[in-house]
Amino acid sequence: MQIRDVGSNLLYHVHPDIGKKLVGAGLAVEIKHVGPYHPRQMSWSLVANHMPWPVIKASCPCGSSNELTGPTAHITQKVGHCGIQEAVPKDIAARYDAIVAERKVRMKHGRG
Ligand SMILES: [Zn+2]
Repeated sequence: MQIRDVGSNLLYHVHPDIGKKLVGAGLAVEIKHVGPYHPRQMSWSLVANHMPWPVIKASCPCGSSNELTGPTAHITQKVGHCGIQEAVPKDIAARYDAIVAERKVRMKHGRG
């Protein structure tokens, strides 16, 4: 476990038995990591009928949720969560790309 020494504010990695003793004695406080080291499973969805551009929605059990939109959102935008910057998954990006391409064609022809 990781502890912070109360006097010096220095961080130490110690055996849990020792850490608990020091925390119990009031000499240290336990450092609890806010986010996991490994990213949790982000769930992604696509709102295709949103205008002018579709919306990519992302939410994670860590509490992070995001909405990405724009002509290149699926390529340029990432979602920061669990200590990482996660890119849009390929299948979502491909669907998004198809919708964007179709809308660009419609705009060109002045029908959309
Ligand atoms: Zn997360």
